[in-house]
Amino acid sequence: MYNLVIFGPPGAGKGTQSEKIIEKYKLAHISTGDMFRMHISNDTDLGKKVKQILADGLLVPDSITIEMLEEEVKSKPDVKGFIFDGFPRTVPQAEALDKFLEDKGLKINLVLQLDVNQDVIKERIAERQKISGRADDDADKLVKRIDEYFSKTIHVLPYYQSQDKVTKVNGIGKIDDIFEQISAAIDSTI
Ligand code: AMP
Repeated sequence: MYNLVIFGPPGAGKGTQSEKIIEKYKLAHISTGDMFRMHISNDTDLGKKVKQILADGLLVPDSITIEMLEEEVKSKPDVKGFIFDGFPRTVPQAEALDKFLEDKGLKINLVLQLDVNQDVIKERIAERQKISGRADDDADKLVKRIDEYFSKTIHVLPYYQSQDKVTKVNGIGKIDDIFEQISAAIDSTI
């Protein structure tokens, strides 16, 4: 199994590049943000619990997020590998994922860091909001999400750097050019 984490701030292009990775490498996509939104739109118990947290642009507690993710991985035993998009977002999540995979004799093979600056993030999310209508893409909620990224999520990078797993890719430019760099990184670790 080949497991990949796609990492970057909101608006870095994780979703867009994940779609291309899935198509080429046939990995199963796990987006914790998509999963939470699905629970909210289906009004499940979990959806009720996290609705306000997402609306406020804050991170869902680790215990809830980790349990949901592990259930999803367990439900797909026959896939070639996973692309984790939007997870892990905290060091405890990264540690839990490592432990969970290790128990199955698996590991994270590559962490792709999509590098973009804050001006680009804000422009892209303003564009996305016109289409997605996502409440948490509002300018004031975006500020919260970027704060969460720089206060909690950024620490996931040194965690994986110490394992020598991070490849940094310039996330600014044409979608296909970025994907070419990503493909090269995957091909050299697959
Ligand atoms: P995303 O679609 O990845 O931008 O995620 C949307 C929202 O879902 C985030 O702003 C958080 O509220 C929540 N979320 C998604 N993934 C996680 C995670 N790994 N840990 C905590 N909260 C998350």
